[in-house]
Amino acid sequence: MKVNLLNFTLPKLEAFFEEYGEKKFRARQVFRWLHVYGAESFEEMTDIAKTLRAKLEEIATIEVPKLVSEQNSSDGTRKWALEVGTGNKIEAVFIPEDDRGTLCISSQVGCALECQFCSTARQGFNRNLSTGEIVGQLWWANKRLGKDPKGEKIITNVVMMGMGEPLANYDSVIDAMKIMLDDNAYNLSKRKLTLSTSGIVPKLIQLGDDCPVSLAVSLHASNDEVRDEIIPLNKKYPLDKLLDACRQYLAKSPKNYVTFEYVMLKDVNDLLEHAHELVELMRGIECKFNLIPFNPFPNSGFESSSRNQIVRFQKILQDGGYIATVRKTRGDDIDAACGQLVGKVKDKTKRQEKWKNYIPIQIKEE
Ligand code: SAH
Repeated sequence: MKVNLLNFTLPKLEAFFEEYGEKKFRARQVFRWLHVYGAESFEEMTDIAKTLRAKLEEIATIEVPKLVSEQNSSDGTRKWALEVGTGNKIEAVFIPEDDRGTLCISSQVGCALECQFCSTARQGFNRNLSTGEIVGQLWWANKRLGKDPKGEKIITNVVMMGMGEPLANYDSVIDAMKIMLDDNAYNLSKRKLTLSTSGIVPKLIQLGDDCPVSLAVSLHASNDEVRDEIIPLNKKYPLDKLLDACRQYLAKSPKNYVTFEYVMLKDVNDLLEHAHELVELMRGIECKFNLIPFNPFPNSGFESSSRNQIVRFQKILQDGGYIATVRKTRGDDIDAACGQLVGKVKDKTKRQEKWKNYIPIQIKEE
């Protein structure tokens, strides 16, 4: 069977070339063609000898996911749907800001975690994406966005915050991130590549050794009681273990802080005492908070906190000495906001079935 060259990091591509008796530097040329110039065929690789191109044609392919739609939001946000095998679609979103352009990419088709407030969870889980399918999202976005008039890169930042839990697809995600960081490919800096996780502790510690990038943790609660309810994974890796892993990660991280994402759910995790609890909980951990207004979806069972409540919550964190920002919702008109990437998932795990009988939780304190 032919191999897809988009699945290879540069060292792996070099090994592949050497196996076929080809020089290492040829691998680098091809790698650049794939990722810097977005080549779709070997024919385009004009500085590669015809004989080698013919050989590559026989043993390898350049397979990117199929682009099925592109949507543009009135605020400049763009969303692409990509087909990854029969009936499965994933989404990638580009968010332009004054000083940067961020691409949000997916790591799995659906998600096997069951975070209660996330609509991807309701889609169930089909499978992990391959390295080529993860990188393919950046490949497409680059191609569709082109260069800005000064010839500079439009995508300056990548966040692994789309569909899926990146640390649950560890090997492919690591290789994909290595390709994104490679200066013979997308040349992103480690500070501008962010992995977001709901907290698979052993993998998080491993990430520090294998590919330390900027870290965002989906915290969403100030104690185990609430977190157990909204992020079932917390029962396996409770807050003390998660925060320990964050401390260990910080020693290796390209940034000297962890970003804690906190989706603001009315009466569930947004009480002022929760903010005070967070202030105490995070003593001694270099961190920032990013408060995310909850993006509603049908039958979610949650409501977003009011603007006032979010501001009050933020103020307590700030008075406690932390940087706390409120995430702006972007791309609302094209359903591109956090937790709204749904794609199309052929659910293999019957999770969709399970959610049908979902009774919204109530943790409201009297
Ligand atoms: N599985 C990873 C990557 C997904 S990131 C993680 O959990 O971090 C997507 C971010 O959006 C996470 O912080 C997630 O908790 C948040 N999110 C999910 N559903 C949301 C919703 N309905 N409204 C706002 N944010 C949401």
